[in-house]
Amino acid sequence: MKVNQAEFIISAVGPSQYPADALPEIALAGRSNVGKSSLINRLIQRKNLARTSSKPGKTQQLNYYKVNADLYFVDLPGYGYAQVSKSKREIWGKFIEQYLLHREHLKLVLLIIDIRHAPSKDDQTMFAWLKHNDVPLVVVTTKADKITKGHWQKHVKIIRETLQMEKHDRMVLFSSELGVGKDELWQVIEQEIGW
Ligand code: GDP
Repeated sequence: MKVNQAEFIISAVGPSQYPADALPEIALAGRSNVGKSSLINRLIQRKNLARTSSKPGKTQQLNYYKVNADLYFVDLPGYGYAQVSKSKREIWGKFIEQYLLHREHLKLVLLIIDIRHAPSKDDQTMFAWLKHNDVPLVVVTTKADKITKGHWQKHVKIIRETLQMEKHDRMVLFSSELGVGKDELWQVIEQEIGW
């Protein structure tokens, strides 16, 4: 995928603000601070288009980024941020749930997991829920540069086991820092939107 143009479109707080041009949407889910913004920036080769912030849990909207005139990346609110009250978490949950279940232009969810740690309960719930609801997904294990290459497969195995992934469930190993996995992930995305 050659990215000629990438721009931030909107932080949508509800369906009436979602773009109306019917382009395919690729959503990113994961806990706060897992590296979603960095991953978008790496995929589109821009340093700072998607805001990388060290303050987790700030985003309460769907952030839309348009790539060429081809597709949107949709950065979902990070989940599992301990300091957010339970009632607020439930509202976020509903908000995300509605989008994931009913957005017709949604083609693929990238579930972003930190390769260093076994997936959290929230990660496990999200993975199982997406599968149960037949939402197309690929697990992306990011921050691979933070562990030595010789340990990658061991961590991948732990993640696959903890999420109870089946053989055919897709996973891409990624590093926003190094660019590892970028071409592979673009291939998965392009395949999913039928290019
Ligand atoms: P978000 O909250 O999920 O959007 O996470 P960010 O993209 O803001 O990343 C959170 C922190 O992790 C930032 O300090 C990033 O620089 C760092 N980070 C994200 N991805 C990587 C990666 O692949 N490698 C390394 N070394 N750091 C990363």
